[in-house]
Amino acid sequence: MTSKTVLAAPARRREAALRLRSARLSYGERVLWDGLDLDIRPGEFLAVLGPNGSGKTSLMRVLLGQQQLSSGSAEVVGHPAGKANHRIGYIPQQRALDSQLVLRGRDLVGLGLDGHRWGLGLRGRAERRRRVDRVLAEVGATEYADQPVGLLSGGEQQRLRVAQALVGDPELLLCDEPLLSLDLANQRVVSELIDARRRSAGTAVLFVTHEINPVLPLVDRVLYLVDGRFQIGSPDEVMTSENLTRLYRTPVDVLRVRGQIVVVGAQNSAHHLPEGS
Ligand code: ADP
Repeated sequence: MTSKTVLAAPARRREAALRLRSARLSYGERVLWDGLDLDIRPGEFLAVLGPNGSGKTSLMRVLLGQQQLSSGSAEVVGHPAGKANHRIGYIPQQRALDSQLVLRGRDLVGLGLDGHRWGLGLRGRAERRRRVDRVLAEVGATEYADQPVGLLSGGEQQRLRVAQALVGDPELLLCDEPLLSLDLANQRVVSELIDARRRSAGTAVLFVTHEINPVLPLVDRVLYLVDGRFQIGSPDEVMTSENLTRLYRTPVDVLRVRGQIVVVGAQNSAHHLPEGS
């Protein structure tokens, strides 16, 4: 009998990256969501969908501790929301940076590092530089890392924002419509970078989007919010005519066309329905 080398399984984080229990958020009379129970496990990709005003941004603010729940609880990697922000990476929407901005790409990325973690001595600076260089290479931005960010293209700037979000090795990535206003090629680049990191490092991803199709192959589960109602499940479970008709309280057809999902409602022909339709 030949002896086999038994490789130790990598240490697994057991706690959910995010845990909501009986979460309710209301502003005055308006209930955005109620009874929301949600765990996102390490490495999971959750898309948050819903029309404007359904509470997607508010959900991210809750997780960052900027907005209190009306009732229930919210935890990030086992800590009350707001107490673990250094373990969260945040990728915002792409907006053109001021062309006069002289900050270099690598400086923008370095802003994503907690300044106190490695100290400010020589060793600390070397470690910061090593981490910035590594993440710049990961997103393919090494070539333009020393140029002023204001002179870079929208796609290049967005790669740097992804690098900034990843440089602190987050356990949860909050993505706030990060593909908006990017062309198709750059949408693909950015979503593949996020996907690669969650697969290699087990980073959980909460991805707010109006348009599921660019990330459909990556999505494990969907949280669909509409006017106080919600549903959680796989894209196949949630994205059906029956479910969306119930959530929107108006007839909605969900069509599958060439592997893409098209949602058609009474007053809309785009992917999602506008508020109040
Ligand atoms: P989404 O990101 O899905 O568009 P938001 O979370 O930004 O939705 O907002 C949901 C609703 O809550 C909106 O109608 C918004 O006006 C309202 N809202 C957001 N923040 C506050 C607040 N601090 N006080 C009162 N209403 C708010």
